[in-house]
Amino acid sequence: MIVGKEQQMETKLQTALQIAKDQKDISAAAEYLGQEVENITICGKVLLYVNNGETYENTVCYSTDKDYFIDSWGDWHESVEAQYCAAENVIRYGFCGEFTDMTEGIRWNEIVCSHCNNLIGG
Ligand SMILES: [Zn+2]
Repeated sequence: MIVGKEQQMETKLQTALQIAKDQKDISAAAEYLGQEVENITICGKVLLYVNNGETYENTVCYSTDKDYFIDSWGDWHESVEAQYCAAENVIRYGFCGEFTDMTEGIRWNEIVCSHCNNLIGG
């Protein structure tokens, strides 16, 4: 049976995930994969992840609310940001990374960033 490269990687990630869960330590998974642990913080949430050098490629992650799981840090970042923006009724301007309140009746691309005063849709 021929095993595809992606399937091999998926199996390796599942093994690394199990190692992290067993040892309650993401650095054990990083060691198994021969990579380093990185962390990012957004909207008050912290993600620890094994850095495979790819923003949108699956890796072993840890966050206090989800425990150990497999995702890409890019997808995690986007979903946390989307949830935060929906809950707080704010919009994030990618250029400066700051959040600005959404004002009722004004389209998002007409909103001016409250931090750097640039037009968000501009
Ligand atoms: Zn700004």
